[in-house]
Amino acid sequence: MNTQFPAERILLGPGPSPVPSRVLRALGAPTLGHLDPQYLTIMDEVCEMLRQVFRTKNALTFPVSGTGMAGMECIATNLIEPGDEVIVCVNGVFGGRMKDVMERCGATVHAVEAAWGDVIELDQIAAALDQHPKTKLVGIVHAETSTGAHQPLEGFADLVHSKGALLVVDAVTSLGGHELKVDEWGIDAIYSGTQKCLSCPPGLAPVSFGDRALAIMDARKTKVQSWYLDVSMLRKYYTGGGGGRVYHHTAPINMTYALHEALNIVLEEGLDARIARHEKMHLRLRAGLEAMGISYIPKRSLHSLNCISIPAGADDAGTRKRLLEEYGIEIGSGLGVMAGKAWRIGLMGHGSTARNVDLVLTALREVLK
Ligand SMILES: *Cc1c(COP(=O)(O)O)cnc(C)c1O
Repeated sequence: MNTQFPAERILLGPGPSPVPSRVLRALGAPTLGHLDPQYLTIMDEVCEMLRQVFRTKNALTFPVSGTGMAGMECIATNLIEPGDEVIVCVNGVFGGRMKDVMERCGATVHAVEAAWGDVIELDQIAAALDQHPKTKLVGIVHAETSTGAHQPLEGFADLVHSKGALLVVDAVTSLGGHELKVDEWGIDAIYSGTQKCLSCPPGLAPVSFGDRALAIMDARKTKVQSWYLDVSMLRKYYTGGGGGRVYHHTAPINMTYALHEALNIVLEEGLDARIARHEKMHLRLRAGLEAMGISYIPKRSLHSLNCISIPAGADDAGTRKRLLEEYGIEIGSGLGVMAGKAWRIGLMGHGSTARNVDLVLTALREVLK
């Protein structure tokens, strides 16, 4: 590789987040076979640590091979059969993607919408469930990375379950950075990614399925359309159930080492302490930006992703280019309807530090002079 590449950037965008050197070293460990008992021990430990980070006892908790979108597709394709009715909450790019993915699985999708930057209210979902009583599941994004909006979820499962539906959650930008209680909040199926608040390279998608979701999958009349993501086969490998561990596909061995180390780091810090750190760093950044006259777009901002209005007169691409070239800092542009209007500053996992907050504030002040 060119000796100038890759540079060591400070990744303060919407993901990937900075990866600690401990995780990069883990990636370089000797590759084992995917049925080697040593590897299976590592995989079992990853699943157990994922349960701790998701705050769940769900036996079926494992890393899907692929990025966060593979987690979304895995849950959609396993829970949906053609002709099912589902509700998807859409208030940004990722809710829109969930709708698209579920439609591709053959579902009739009823969208519950909110303006970009707003969150979905519980009574909107209640009204939609009354209007569509055959709804099988309600999909919602906990951390909408395109708008920075932080979706409350407490109490949502009670409503959804009372109508006989499942609650499906996208936690790609919240897992490991925001409070998230899968069992206490009654979430039935959830997916995430490794490269946001877990600070691991992209490549695995932690998922977890509860008992209601298992019952739905066991009662399917049709085969899961995706062979690769069919949980009825994957679960034999990941949980060792149903006749022991057999080859399905070759697990991404070295990525599993990396996730193992990333989860070790999360649990060494402590989940509560890590969540508190994300909040503290968000508030530190927010105070600095607001002192510069820069405002936040969402009313309820995420701690892991700060979506701000581009100040009047500032050059969108030019500013981001100078941050990257002069300071080595990556921040994100606006996505979808916010393109050209917003910047997104991620403070995720290993990147959520006072040093990075003060650095990006100083750099922005200089570039915006
Ligand atoms: C990043 C992200 C995804 C997609 O994850 P990939 O790893 O890019 O496939 C899905 N949902 C949300 C909310 C995200 O932020």
